[in-house]
Amino acid sequence: KPLRPRQRLPAVPQGIERSQFFLAIDELSREIGNENVEINDKPLDDGWYMEPPNTHDGMAITDEEDLVASAVVYPASTDEVQKIVHWANKYLIPLHPISMGRNFGYGGAAPRVRGAVVVDLGKRMNRILDINPEDCTCLVEPGVSYYALYEEIKRRGYKHLWIDVPDLGGGSVLGNALDHGVGYTPYGDHWAMHSGLEVVTPTGEVVRTGMGALPGNNTWQVFPYGFGPFIDGIFSQSNYGIVTKMGFGLMPDPGGHESFLYTFEKEGDLEQLVEIVRPLRIAMILDNAANIRHALQILALSGKPRTAFYKGEGAFPSEKMSEYMKAHPYGESTWLYFGTCYGPKEIRQLKLDIIHREFMKVPGARRVDPATLPPSDYFWSRDKISSGEPDLEELAWVNWWPNGGHVAFSPVAPTRGVDALRLWQMAKKHWTASGLDFFLDFVVGLRELHLIGECVYDRDDPKQRSNALEVMRSLIDEAAQKGYGEYRTHLLLSDQVAGTYSWNNNALMNFNEKLKDCLDPNGILAPGRSGIWPARYRGRGWEI
Ligand code: ADP
Repeated sequence: KPLRPRQRLPAVPQGIERSQFFLAIDELSREIGNENVEINDKPLDDGWYMEPPNTHDGMAITDEEDLVASAVVYPASTDEVQKIVHWANKYLIPLHPISMGRNFGYGGAAPRVRGAVVVDLGKRMNRILDINPEDCTCLVEPGVSYYALYEEIKRRGYKHLWIDVPDLGGGSVLGNALDHGVGYTPYGDHWAMHSGLEVVTPTGEVVRTGMGALPGNNTWQVFPYGFGPFIDGIFSQSNYGIVTKMGFGLMPDPGGHESFLYTFEKEGDLEQLVEIVRPLRIAMILDNAANIRHALQILALSGKPRTAFYKGEGAFPSEKMSEYMKAHPYGESTWLYFGTCYGPKEIRQLKLDIIHREFMKVPGARRVDPATLPPSDYFWSRDKISSGEPDLEELAWVNWWPNGGHVAFSPVAPTRGVDALRLWQMAKKHWTASGLDFFLDFVVGLRELHLIGECVYDRDDPKQRSNALEVMRSLIDEAAQKGYGEYRTHLLLSDQVAGTYSWNNNALMNFNEKLKDCLDPNGILAPGRSGIWPARYRGRGWEI
């Protein structure tokens, strides 16, 4: 699609004169190198998954020039990150750090504050600093993608080491963990599997957490806690620091794996299925994140557009979905369970037998024999991901609309049938009313269930975009009334979601703000991220 010329003047941060800002940028260019500072004044190119923009959200849900960077800077080292932070404090310029900027469905690389300077850590800070084959650990910089880590482990010949990948493998290992992203091997909780951070604080100091604080240690990546308060948590989903290094545990090859697929016919089966999943997952008989998908997403995963299935207006009719599923290799179904068991054959078989016995208690449940599925089937993409091999198949469903965008509703609940059903009914009610389509996936980490409800829209259709944002707002509100909160959200919905975590007169946000003011007195780092505004922005109309 041809690029649209920019409609507005290039953004500059509020509170600084345009000419002053460009003088400040000249100063930054002298420090970091002219070629490493770019003004964002060209037409906005949305790129695609493998080449995401770092100047804005490639899937903008409002006018694409609303949330844009004024400039992008590319540091090469922690030392340069410190220089950028000192510079920002001197001129009171907001910074927005990104690792690789693929936060699709949650705002991409866009800063919450128009005109912030994006600190793109990924481009030049992309070294794998360590892979330790004995301890099964690694230490990475922000620009290391799952693909890069996977390839490097292969290149070094460490056949016994796996990595854990999310649905799409192009993103940053560090960025995903910071945002509480998940994957599908038994090491799927990325944040829980980290050990050690290096952070540049908003005033420019460098801190290493955990054992990293002990000079000469050899335990930074094997013991996360160190001594004293465990401060790592305040650097995730926050704006309290720029993370420049992060360590992780790597899973050893378990000696084999086997993926399986079960289908469930009726909408209401969800309740019984989730009741069956809970004890199996908590006991780790189901040994990776449970993944219960709604069949509409399976249709979309064919990569065919919506119009290939249905040309009518409004939400996709469920009868149509059933009709198409009848002809699909998975057969008639509303819910599909994708799972994997790990270990040598005899160990896997014990677990697979229990799972089969339990799942088949749901009337109409069926096991799909993988041997009947062609190599191109989506099932094999899940199999790759669940055994630590990055993949991109998941991108296919974005083609549902010609210029497809998506935004996610991601509440958490206990793994209970009634809760899953309640979330499902709520989501369905709102999406049917909005006339948009939702792709739903219930993911059980261990005890909790995340619903990932992706609302898909045509990015060129302003009506669909505003409907999508509106339906998100209604869902967040109704969920909160029923006691459910989101684990992650789009940057434009952060204030609303943060506002639902309001117990005891917003005690949590008051605490977050106290931390913010103490750590970032000039309020330069990612103002508004996760609904946390620095003092100089607070109560001045920024919160939405
Ligand atoms: P990915 O490419 O894995 O999706 P992103 O770079 O989009 O990762 O990171 C997700 C979010 O986490 C970003 O929008 C940003 O707010 C925050 N973030 C990413 N990297 C860092 C970092 N190194 N330090 C602080 N915050 C970060």
